[in-house]
Amino acid sequence: MKYLYLPIISLLISAVVFAQKKPVTENVIIVTLDGMRWHEVFKGVDPALMNDSVFTRDKEEMKNNFWAETVEERRKKLFPFLWSTVETKGSLFGNRKYNNNVDNANPYWFSYPGYNEIFTGYPDTAVNSNDKILNKNENVLEFINKQKGFTGKVAAFSTWDVFPYILNAKRSGVYVNADVDSLHFNTPELKLINDMQFLTTRPIGVRPDVFTYFAAREYLKKYKPKVLYIAFDETDDFAHAGMYDQYLKSAHAEDAMIADLWKTVQSINQYKDKSTLIITCDHGRGDKIKANWQHHGEKIEDAHEIWMAVISPDVKPGGEQKEDIQLYQKQFACCFKK
Ligand SMILES: [Zn+2]
Repeated sequence: MKYLYLPIISLLISAVVFAQKKPVTENVIIVTLDGMRWHEVFKGVDPALMNDSVFTRDKEEMKNNFWAETVEERRKKLFPFLWSTVETKGSLFGNRKYNNNVDNANPYWFSYPGYNEIFTGYPDTAVNSNDKILNKNENVLEFINKQKGFTGKVAAFSTWDVFPYILNAKRSGVYVNADVDSLHFNTPELKLINDMQFLTTRPIGVRPDVFTYFAAREYLKKYKPKVLYIAFDETDDFAHAGMYDQYLKSAHAEDAMIADLWKTVQSINQYKDKSTLIITCDHGRGDKIKANWQHHGEKIEDAHEIWMAVISPDVKPGGEQKEDIQLYQKQFACCFKK
């Protein structure tokens, strides 16, 4: 069992490209929730933070939305898709209660180094800021985009406007639509989303995640990419702002968007039962010192703790993983250059 699921994450994409094991998977969809803690993914709303008026303005509303007696009920209220469809049809990694550990291998525990690690398969000490610097490292989306039959079939939609640099859209040729990059597509739906995204209040300084999602969904329906990446961002922004209630509301909404995405995918012939869905995050946040839930980075001792979830037609569903094991973020793409 120990090595059974390493191929899920490490070899899946190379399997798709090279058809090494004749996988059923023909499409890969990756979704990231920026700075989403494993604590809420596996334990639901944190009662200490919910009851702290510094972080939660309306405790009653949070209680009504997300509170329940048991951890299992609480996490399902917060992430109904993860704890129904993914739990029964896929696997969830990172519950440290069972020493099922997933961690950053990079030493920085913030966004750009985390996404670099996910998509290149290596932690790189030269990638150590969130500045808009074009990434020198080749990434797995770029690699796939170069393969015969995949060129122009790889797309990324992000809320954060640093992704064109992280994925080096200029060099990689991957279509990256970030923040309010115009959607130059000739469909009424994409035109409407394009108009709307310029007129929102931008509460986190970039377009809300829901616009990133709808742009990605309508693109998927129209252009049928083989690899689609969606990068949500609101959870990290609301956490930094110390707004625990908003952080949870965004997490809940993102879970619902992933549910809607999966429903869409399963309704289209190209994708139905031939798609692998991977959900993860770029870094963790603090918890040992409760107020550090807002923060991350190398000074926060537990901010390297992350999680992953996967549904794949090539992998036997395992539900919540309870095995004592150590996984790293870099394993997501580490074998793609083989
Ligand atoms: Zn952050």
